[in-house]
Amino acid sequence: MKSDIRVCRTHEHDRPVYTLSDTCPFCGERTENSAPAPFSPDDRVGEYRRALKRRRRS
Ligand SMILES: [Zn+2]
Repeated sequence: MKSDIRVCRTHEHDRPVYTLSDTCPFCGERTENSAPAPFSPDDRVGEYRRALKRRRRS
């Protein structure tokens, strides 16, 4: 299941600010997903699916 927890991308806070919103509740800056893309299970599944597609085509 995809995590909806996001974190403020600025370094203006003493500690990471986690939120479910697209913007930081404290500084208003954009937030990004707290899980880095390379470690996202969604990405791994997508990569696997693309590999399967390539294999089937050839
Ligand atoms: Zn912030």
